[in-house]
Amino acid sequence: MVCLVTILFTVYVSHAQAYWQQRSDVKIEVRLDDKENFLHAYEEITYTNNSPDTLKYLYIHLWANAYKNDHTPFAQQMDVIGNTAFYYSKHKDRGYIDSLQFSIDGQSVDYSSSENVPDIARVDLPQPLLPGHKIKITTPFCVKIPLVFSRLGHDGQAYYISQWFPKPAVYDRKGWHAFSFLEDGEFYSEYGSYNVSITLPKNYIVMATGNCTDESEMKWLDDLSKQPLPNDTLYKTTFPASDPEMKTLHYEEDNVHDFAWFADKRWVARKDTVHSPGNNQLVTTWAAFLPMHWKQWVHATDYLRETVKHYGKWVGPYPYKTMKAVEGNMHAGGGMEYPTVTIIDKTAASMLKVTVIHEGGHNWFYGMLGTNERDHAWMDEGINTFYEEKTDRSLNTDSVRKHGIVLNEATLYYEFAATHEDQAIEQTSANFTKFNYGLDIYYKTALSLRWLEQYMGEEDFEKGMKNYYDTWRYKHPYPEDFEACMKNNTKKDIDWFFTTILHTDKKIDFTITDATTNNGSTEITVRNNTGVAGPALIDVYNNDSLIDSVWTTPFEHTATVVVPSTTWTALKIDDIMPDAKSTNNTYRRNGLFHSFGLKVKPVLGLNRSDKDKIFISPSLGYNQYDGFMLGLLFHNLTLPENRFRFAITPLYAFNSNTLTGAGSVGYLWYPDNLFKEILLQADAKSFDFNKTTFSGSPWFMRYVKIAPSLNFTFNEHDPLSSVTRTLTLKGYSINEDYVSNSSTKAQQQKTYGLLRYLYRNDRTYNPFSYSLDGQMGADFAKISVEGNVRVDYNVKNKALYIRAYLGKFFAISSDPTVYSRYELNASYTGLDDYLYDGTYFGRSAQDGIAAQQISMQEGGFKIPTFNNVDRSDNWLASLNLKTDLPLGKIPLQLFFDVGMIPNINPSVENMSSTTVLYDGGIELKLIKNFASVYFPIIMSSDFQNYLTNTYGKKNVFGRSISFTFQLQNINWLKTPSRLLKMGE
Ligand SMILES: [Zn+2]
Repeated sequence: MVCLVTILFTVYVSHAQAYWQQRSDVKIEVRLDDKENFLHAYEEITYTNNSPDTLKYLYIHLWANAYKNDHTPFAQQMDVIGNTAFYYSKHKDRGYIDSLQFSIDGQSVDYSSSENVPDIARVDLPQPLLPGHKIKITTPFCVKIPLVFSRLGHDGQAYYISQWFPKPAVYDRKGWHAFSFLEDGEFYSEYGSYNVSITLPKNYIVMATGNCTDESEMKWLDDLSKQPLPNDTLYKTTFPASDPEMKTLHYEEDNVHDFAWFADKRWVARKDTVHSPGNNQLVTTWAAFLPMHWKQWVHATDYLRETVKHYGKWVGPYPYKTMKAVEGNMHAGGGMEYPTVTIIDKTAASMLKVTVIHEGGHNWFYGMLGTNERDHAWMDEGINTFYEEKTDRSLNTDSVRKHGIVLNEATLYYEFAATHEDQAIEQTSANFTKFNYGLDIYYKTALSLRWLEQYMGEEDFEKGMKNYYDTWRYKHPYPEDFEACMKNNTKKDIDWFFTTILHTDKKIDFTITDATTNNGSTEITVRNNTGVAGPALIDVYNNDSLIDSVWTTPFEHTATVVVPSTTWTALKIDDIMPDAKSTNNTYRRNGLFHSFGLKVKPVLGLNRSDKDKIFISPSLGYNQYDGFMLGLLFHNLTLPENRFRFAITPLYAFNSNTLTGAGSVGYLWYPDNLFKEILLQADAKSFDFNKTTFSGSPWFMRYVKIAPSLNFTFNEHDPLSSVTRTLTLKGYSINEDYVSNSSTKAQQQKTYGLLRYLYRNDRTYNPFSYSLDGQMGADFAKISVEGNVRVDYNVKNKALYIRAYLGKFFAISSDPTVYSRYELNASYTGLDDYLYDGTYFGRSAQDGIAAQQISMQEGGFKIPTFNNVDRSDNWLASLNLKTDLPLGKIPLQLFFDVGMIPNINPSVENMSSTTVLYDGGIELKLIKNFASVYFPIIMSSDFQNYLTNTYGKKNVFGRSISFTFQLQNINWLKTPSRLLKMGE
């Protein structure tokens, strides 16, 4: 009997212990030195081992050490994501934590951490820590507060004190979770109680985690909150002097896993109260903000109140007594959440409502549901964004979204899905590109949860979420725990969400392919174009009224549903599914192509409609033969981008009185194997390239170019790779007018082939590229290699630019007059552009300003020449150097070019025997990488003689000036995504 009871008891106990959790109760005394930007502190952690394991060591996070040197994982991630603020920062502006002296139960112990990962320490315990036992860990510590680069920092005497104290890493059923501080990638910490006292000058307003227990301080804040709002809207950059008298404030909170505090002498404070649904807890809400933003921030306590009400109703009651939002300068969009207190960036003032709701909402998804944010970021950011948007919608004011992105983030996600740049949601934070960290984790998750919510039904979804909250509040749930709670509260199959939606980057794209009506009902066939399992909601419309909606069950290929209606005019894939391609979502009853529709729109725009859009805008052109040109640009370049793209502009030329124009058409594949992307494209253009006079009347010389190409972009596999490798195969068919021997205008047809391999490494520092190029025509062939490297100086945006070029020419024709136009050029002008790839104001000009336009091709020299002085029919080698100058933002550079030509055609007068050419001078950058003006100061004698003989001695300087207007490297079909990624 006893025995039996014991067995039963053991079984019961072991079941109850299936979930266990460590506890970390923290006491800190800290003093702020606001002259030297230091924290001086003493900490005592009571660490309870509730695990069934005996612990011999603990991992302690020292996250303030992230700012210690250039090798920390934080510093390295900043490099990868292209944030240069830390890299170029002064040593004195960085930060660290030191003066640590750990003791365990009074016994002094050592700790170890590595040079490059100084923010994780391992403390070996003097005695093993048995299951169910606790230890007291104490240490003094000092923090050198960095300038704010990411979260912890100061901006003048505004202090943002977070991730600042030594803190045990989580030990849970999956083991230790010690990880470094990162910019993109959040945290995971043990629950416990916090008891923190902060000493600082008396005139600081402090907002911190938990409840302030000092009555005089609360009375002071209360009085401040009742003072009239400031009527100045100036941003106070100067700080009032710190009160020589100090104060010590005491804060307490239980069931939290972090403690942060913020202090500013300039803030305006406002206060309100709200009762949380579910537990009727009275919550005091505080907002503390900079005077300049009072107009927006005066509503912040309302937003906190709505957060408490909505999250309280949909997820679970708010158990803490306070919720605070403060304004700071984080140097990044949005805000950052800590238990019961959140900091919101000053740039988020215009989107304050959603930002405050979002950050306040983190008290549930992060605060109370303490997930491992680093490895499963969607569980806090994604679920929280879902409720932020739901709250925003219920307040009936769909606001502009936050996080510093101008476009709606959902549209950006669709763009990234359309161009296969998106990533699977469920993976560790450091794997994401900067864009995808926001778009996939936040927005794809939120969009997909809406889909799940509507499929489950709002009631069951809410039951599932409340079940999750009740079961896991103050605990460490994993994705499988969330999944179990949701599955326990629905009879529907929702496996698709937890498998393909979270774990793959398969796109979502449904189309209605067929609808047949008979016997008073309609059978609808839906095709799943990508095979991502999931249910689809089909809406039945009669003209503009929705008459029925029906869900399919989750399916991968095709599904049929039957609706009891025959009087419909259109069937639609409901937009509750985050369907990446919206233009195939409507099935129209009438029409030859049921799913195809077309809309004409002015200029440009986004497209999330059910029809393809063609945009029309006026377009202008100029060259000195055709004169001004006016026409229309027809294109379908939009976001999300189409696979089939075109941009065509017919123009009327007022000088030549002819029709000219240019256009490109392309189609993209994303094979996701060796190649990431394949683009089949055809470019065409026709303009006049010269004008002569014959028998007193003008003769316009015309070219017509058609150039089909295949462009392969290799797959880099690592999404964080800064490498792009492309292979281009391009053919040219060019029809040119020429004056024949019999003085009539005739045409000649030229064909060329081009093969180019380009390797680019766009890493943040010292990026480089190289290309191999082969060109061939009937009369010649040439091959070349070009390399470019930017050598960054130790000053932001200042560098040395090195370009090297080596070209080899092969004449196929034996007649130099036939092949000379293809020869290699030290300086490259419009006349040299036989492929007609560039855009020149006067491509045949040998005089006037148009003759001074050059391109950075072949030799890359800056002196425009029109004879053989800088040409080679054999080989050409050149080195082009440019350097930024220490002139702040003034866009001047120095350049120097040196090249060698071994075999200059000797038919030119005054030619020296030297084969070395050089020039050097000043470059004025008008538009970076596109337009510059070059003023040579020195040049080799060949150039000097050429200019003197051609233009006269006093015109040498004037004629040596050149300019670039380089459009030849732009592929207009890819501009929308290029422009987007410039912000990356
Ligand atoms: Zn967030």
